[in-house]
Amino acid sequence: MWRGVIEEYRAHLPVTARTPVVTLLEGGTPLVRADRLARHLPDVALWLKYEGVNPTGSFKDRGMTVAISKALEDRSRAVVCASTGNTAASAAAYAARAGLPCFVVVPAGGVALGKMVQALAHGARVVAVRGSFDDALRIVREGVPRLQLTLVNSINPYRLEGQKTGAFEICDALGGAPDAVAIPVGNAGNITAYWRGFTEYHCAGVIDERPRMWGFQAAGAAPLVLGHPVAHPDTIASAIRIGRPASWEGAETAVRESGGAIEAVSDAELLAAQALLAREEGVFVEPSSAAPVAGLLKRAREGRLAPGLVVCVLTGQGLKDPDAVLRTERQPEPVPATMEALAHLVDAALVAR
Ligand SMILES: *Cc1c(COP(=O)(O)O)cnc(C)c1O
Repeated sequence: MWRGVIEEYRAHLPVTARTPVVTLLEGGTPLVRADRLARHLPDVALWLKYEGVNPTGSFKDRGMTVAISKALEDRSRAVVCASTGNTAASAAAYAARAGLPCFVVVPAGGVALGKMVQALAHGARVVAVRGSFDDALRIVREGVPRLQLTLVNSINPYRLEGQKTGAFEICDALGGAPDAVAIPVGNAGNITAYWRGFTEYHCAGVIDERPRMWGFQAAGAAPLVLGHPVAHPDTIASAIRIGRPASWEGAETAVRESGGAIEAVSDAELLAAQALLAREEGVFVEPSSAAPVAGLLKRAREGRLAPGLVVCVLTGQGLKDPDAVLRTERQPEPVPATMEALAHLVDAALVAR
């Protein structure tokens, strides 16, 4: 049975026999071959690392199990994070399990419904500020020393340590490294963590080569593409609506050392890729998670996609953001409860196909 990322990768993580392990058995997520989607990507063998099946529905659980375990070991009195939603959901759940109070600071109106509901359900104290995620992170960083709280954003080094296990799992499943990894980039912690994971496996001789790292930002929140912070980041993809990434240097290092790139995709491209994943592969992700697929499709259209084995990291579950889907999909109008009404709809739909 899968034992969670700390027990599975203990030798690679900053834990000791004295660390109380707080886990919901995160990690061990599916690596799914995506042949129907790959038909849009000439000569690419496409695999999807589906992080949406983690306990709280995003990859954030990989880092949170380590951060909360260490907070407990260090006798923290409470934890705090700034969040666009998924860090809040994950911190709230793991803190609940550890018996630690949890404060989350979010941009008012900037968090998808499902994520807000998760934080509330797990009993976190939610503080909504009039400002952006970057404002939320700024005040949390300022407040941590004075309030004596443990910060569990990805600038907490234990978070990235846990998140690098995603790279280990990909290599373990494939029996080697892929040629490239495509990943959404917001605060840039995850691309930094994956690169660290591949580098550690490379140094340990587990893999011969490291993959190229392709990061994708939303066009309205693309500081790493533009080369400067964005004061008012704007995109439908709330998880990557970030103008001043905390792990800026980590992302640049990953791209430089791997021969990769960071590029931008539009909101229309994000929503189209989200729909394609759901309709052609049965994999439902939130808009941010569709960024790597949107990016690969764009590269293919422009003739810039090299052949090879590519893994897309699908960071979060689609159920978290129902409003994003309802922007393009309409809920059904009720019809009479008769077989004839059903038959009429079935015939019309299949003729239209
Ligand atoms: C946090 C998050 C991201 C961005 O990850 P960073 O480490 O901030 O770059 C992308 N997608 C989802 C679903 C997330 O929750």
